[in-house]
Amino acid sequence: MGSLTLVKPNLHLVDVDSRRLLFHVPSGSLFELDPVGRELLELFEQQGHLTAPVLRQHFESRVSPGELKEALESFQELEIVQESQGVARYNPKPRPVKQFPLTTVVLNVNTGCNLSCTYCYKEDLTTPSKGDRMSFETAVKSIEMLLAESPNQPRYNVVFFGGEPLSHMPVIRQVVDWCEQRFAQLSADVDFTLTTNATLLTPALIDYFNDKRFGLTVSMDGPKTMHDKNRITVGGQGTYDVVRKKVGMLLARYNARPVGCRVTLTRGITDVETIFDHLHNELGFSEVGFGPVTSGDISAFNLTADEMVEVFAGMKRLGRRYLSAALENRNTGFGNMHQLMTDIHEGNKKQLPCGAGVGLLAVDTQGGINLCHRFTGSELPLFGDVDSGIDKPALAQFVETRLDRSNTGCETCRIRNICSGGCYHESYAKYGDASVPSYHYCDLLRDWVDFGVEVYTRIMLENSAFFDRHVSPRRSA
Ligand code: SF4
Ligand code: SF4
Repeated sequence: MGSLTLVKPNLHLVDVDSRRLLFHVPSGSLFELDPVGRELLELFEQQGHLTAPVLRQHFESRVSPGELKEALESFQELEIVQESQGVARYNPKPRPVKQFPLTTVVLNVNTGCNLSCTYCYKEDLTTPSKGDRMSFETAVKSIEMLLAESPNQPRYNVVFFGGEPLSHMPVIRQVVDWCEQRFAQLSADVDFTLTTNATLLTPALIDYFNDKRFGLTVSMDGPKTMHDKNRITVGGQGTYDVVRKKVGMLLARYNARPVGCRVTLTRGITDVETIFDHLHNELGFSEVGFGPVTSGDISAFNLTADEMVEVFAGMKRLGRRYLSAALENRNTGFGNMHQLMTDIHEGNKKQLPCGAGVGLLAVDTQGGINLCHRFTGSELPLFGDVDSGIDKPALAQFVETRLDRSNTGCETCRIRNICSGGCYHESYAKYGDASVPSYHYCDLLRDWVDFGVEVYTRIMLENSAFFDRHVSPRRSA
């Protein structure tokens, strides 16, 4: 044996009480270290490089050479230890992208919205009456594109987006009727989802969504003072009162599936605990997730660096509450934490940050193909349209660029397989280039994922049944 060295970007050590665990970054797996492995890693951390004589001298007669050899070999197999002269491998070599396993299509049914939220990122947003509406024919072509690209899947997702999707219900109803027949012919399931500002909900609409088992998410930003700061009508009035009333009706009447809430955090709004308690405990949303704005077009809405620190500190406090509940087999409904637990539990070795451009595409009202809902109406060139088909060379080139981490800050980042360079739209908004990673709050994100790994480890050690009860069923649903 020559000199050996630690490959730090491939491991993360977690202490839980007196136990020490190794989170293996390339596979997303967790291993409990035995006393020899633990001491060996401590020695590597102190000395950097280790040679056979140093190891012999350190362990003397306490550990047999065979035991030491076995521990070192298992570390080398995991690629957390390697010959000091060797070239470390952190990421798989990116392969050319030839297929797009689409299972989700997002239909932007109307560029119009009846609200005029101050921070809205949609470049093509207008009022519902002036909005461009998607025709039934374009919607059908979009879904046929999905089926042609990815036939024989057991399940597909059709997502209705806007503007405000409820402002174009006739086409949603037509598409749902058509899908029910089309997917039944194929013996495939189809799942409908929709994100709404809730203001246009009526009892009859809720009953309709219940009947069709829609997955519903409401955009709402917290208690009145926080919500009304940005979520206003075209005339400038706060919308909290009407949204609260409609949400009350929705949650009382809708029982097909849990209803989630999506909160947008902007400058001056950082108190995630108060927001969570209001939306989850008082109003009754089953899950609440936070989206901090850091790279919007209007920089006055972006959270400052100090505010981001506050947001993450609050998210950690909510995370500790999530942990306590998980140890009692309960899910508090803190969406960001639950998503992180799901990613870690499934060992999601994410090569890409999300499904956009690979498993999911968004179609705009005119049939143009976009990476995801956030890009419809943006200046980013389209990736084809539903008449001429997907521009596969352009899409493959985009995806391959993001798959190749070499010479990016992500190459050796310890959370590279969870973050994967971050949201394309954030990069696009920040740098005007969706193909580069969005580096703007990496340290905070690493700290958040480190925290998540510790929470995950604790739940695994003390109540692993939580994952069977609350994480696996969510995926299969
Ligand atoms: S964007 Fe930053 S945090 Fe994310 S993987 Fe890259 S370097 Fe790590
Ligand atoms: S690119 Fe960003 S906004 Fe679009 S689906 Fe991915 S994470 Fe979401």
